[in-house]
Amino acid sequence: MRILITNDDGIYSPGIAALARIAQKFGEVKVVAPDVEQSSMGHAVTHSRPLSYKKSPINFEGIEAHRVNGTPADCVALGTHMWSQTDVVLSGINLGPNLGNSMWHSGTLAGAKQAVLLGIKGIALSTPVGKDEPKFDALEPYVEKVLALLLQDKHLGLFNVNFPQKPMGMMWTRQSVQFYDGKIVPGIDPMGRKHYWSTVIPLDPAEEGSDRWAVENNKVSITPLRLDLTNETLLSSLQFSHPLD
Ligand code: MN
Repeated sequence: MRILITNDDGIYSPGIAALARIAQKFGEVKVVAPDVEQSSMGHAVTHSRPLSYKKSPINFEGIEAHRVNGTPADCVALGTHMWSQTDVVLSGINLGPNLGNSMWHSGTLAGAKQAVLLGIKGIALSTPVGKDEPKFDALEPYVEKVLALLLQDKHLGLFNVNFPQKPMGMMWTRQSVQFYDGKIVPGIDPMGRKHYWSTVIPLDPAEEGSDRWAVENNKVSITPLRLDLTNETLLSSLQFSHPLD
């Protein structure tokens, strides 16, 4: 199996090194990742300038790795161009959760989405960051279980996986879709100028069975996703109530 690995934290993140090491148990691994952090860049792609593709062996002993001056979606487009017949793209392990509404701007998930747009299975993997860096050695048995589960099925698929800091079991979940949690917090910089932080506020409580609920209850959350955003129920009712010529 040919496994391409990317992320949005950048190629020097400990999360991508841990994922590449674990993925080697499942097949041949190559890494193509952004040269600097691209978190929250969503599914942006670079069209107005060329991309570079530079060998980057640091942190990846025995694994071919390249860094790209672009986004996670760029890395997957370029990586699969350079390595034909990629079977699966893994994106992560992100330092920070990608749950609920954050899927809309997640660069980690965009790496997996870009794979699916190209006809390749895509899996995004994330974990929360507490006071300390995530302990990837402790997560390893669960990362391995998730990969064994999701890689065995050849069917095309898009999955968003989130690991709690100390997993106790796994759950199939749905995306939490409460009101948006984005918030602007004003402040003053050291020169006395106004500035603004874009941040998030916690939403409570998480809906039972959702991705947020799973991670709050120390379960690994696995959400199957699709790219079709069409609201099927509304479409049917509009076709009936407001027929168009
Ligand atoms: Mn990130």
